[in-house]
Amino acid sequence: MENTTERTELSSLGEFGLIDRLKKFAHLKNTDSLLGIGDDAAVIDCGDHVRLVSTDMMVEGIHFDLSYMPLKHLGYKAVATNVSDIAAMNGKPTQLTVSIAVSSKFSLEAIEELYRGIQAACEVYNVDLVGGDTTSSRSGLMISITIIGTANKQDVVYRSTAKDKDIICVTGDLGGAYMGLQLLEREKQVFLANPNAQPQLEDKDYVVQRQLKPEARMDFIHELKNLEIRPTSMIDISDGLASELMHLCKASGLGARIYEDKLPIDSQTEQIANEFNISTNTCMLNGGEDYELLFTISQDDYAKLRNHPDVTTIGYMHSADKGIHMVSIGQQLVPLTAQGWNHFE
Ligand code: ADP
Ligand code: MG
Repeated sequence: MENTTERTELSSLGEFGLIDRLKKFAHLKNTDSLLGIGDDAAVIDCGDHVRLVSTDMMVEGIHFDLSYMPLKHLGYKAVATNVSDIAAMNGKPTQLTVSIAVSSKFSLEAIEELYRGIQAACEVYNVDLVGGDTTSSRSGLMISITIIGTANKQDVVYRSTAKDKDIICVTGDLGGAYMGLQLLEREKQVFLANPNAQPQLEDKDYVVQRQLKPEARMDFIHELKNLEIRPTSMIDISDGLASELMHLCKASGLGARIYEDKLPIDSQTEQIANEFNISTNTCMLNGGEDYELLFTISQDDYAKLRNHPDVTTIGYMHSADKGIHMVSIGQQLVPLTAQGWNHFE
């Protein structure tokens, strides 16, 4: 132990502050460890190609609530979120291991249902389940997945390689998974107050599906290859656009400007946000779990993506001293802050 009288609350650091402090314990010794902590996946040299490794854990009561998350969906989502980190490196997932901690409240049938979801996602993303670990837990379920992927060395895309004047792009639409969560939480409260109440989820299928069955954007990674575009930097949106854009900026030593009127939102997300009195900005900037891709391209590639139906260009990178801002619809410069998830609050 170092200084035993000192005590720093984790809540004062937040998740990313804590990870920053942990970096000092990791010194890379092996020459094939090309990249360690700091991106969506670690990168390991294998000659002409690289292996990508990423891991993500989901904890009952923190990341999921089994009162509205079916176990099969949970298994699917646990895999999809890991695949998403490989996609964010412009790689292809190949194998994964699954570790679970289970309490006695779960039956064999329940765990099999979880694995049916894992298997379904492994089929969709063409990944092999090659191992894992099984242990008990005092309460609740934990799932930790480690995923392995591959990429040609020259194809890997990092968070740290965006360039000044690059164009910032995002796939799909944002905020849906967050509004799905709000909706499911509301229905749970209604159900707890009155167990005879029927869920009011008609016409809300899109946002519910965004929360319960997110997809990794491997389809888009394949498409980038066909379009012969290699993003200059990339990250997947697990914690909200603002937080991920700040990661890209920090890693690349740049600032950014995005435009509120360009941010992509689905009409159902917008309608439900209005119903909940939540600003659509909050949904898109700070709502997590959309698993879309945020990436930058050089201006030379802009023509190839300009008319792409599933890509929105939302701004551009500039020097760090200009900061990270959003231009509001009223033409005001709003500094972006990362309000993603702080698990320690
Ligand atoms: P993502 O949201 O893409 O999964 P994270 O924010 O979880 O990424 O992690 C960012 C980086 O920090 C990654 O390189 C990850 O491997 C690393 N990391 C996260 N937690 C730890 C930890 N407890 N010890 C070492 N490295 C960690
Ligand atoms: Mg990620």
